Amino acid sequence: MSDCLFCKIVSRQIPAQIVFEDDLAVVFKDINPQAPTHVLIIPKKHLSSLADSADDDAGLLGHLQLVARRIAKEHGLTKGFRVVTNNGQGAGQSVDHLHYHLLGGRAMTWPPG
Ligand code: 5GP
Ligand code: ZN
Repeated sequence: MSDCLFCKIVSRQIPAQIVFEDDLAVVFKDINPQAPTHVLIIPKKHLSSLADSADDDAGLLGHLQLVARRIAKEHGLTKGFRVVTNNGQGAGQSVDHLHYHLLGGRAMTWPPG
């Protein structure tokens, strides 16, 4: 997707503080962090949202969760962390490339806003 912000981060057309990368995923620091640790975990493949994923994406979606586990461990988030995706405008999605927020390093409340 040539006009997608996060695809441009994957292809290094736009700079980001990348903390992890493998064949399927990239993880980078959120530009407007909401917690001491706030990174975005994205597939390299363009998917607009979780709702736009297919059954064939099961392996990829599972992989993203395992990346979240790994990054949480590497950042020492032993007291807890949150992994969330905002799906659609009504949920606050502002970038139409699937991303999971990984947040940690502070106490969190529920329900979210
Ligand atoms: P959403 O609102 O779609 O759930 O999350 C999008 C996230 O992307 C926001 O937390 C926002 O701060 C982050 N973001 C938007 N533009 C950029 C950017 O150019 N670079 C980085 N690193 N994060 C961005
Ligand atoms: Zn994209």
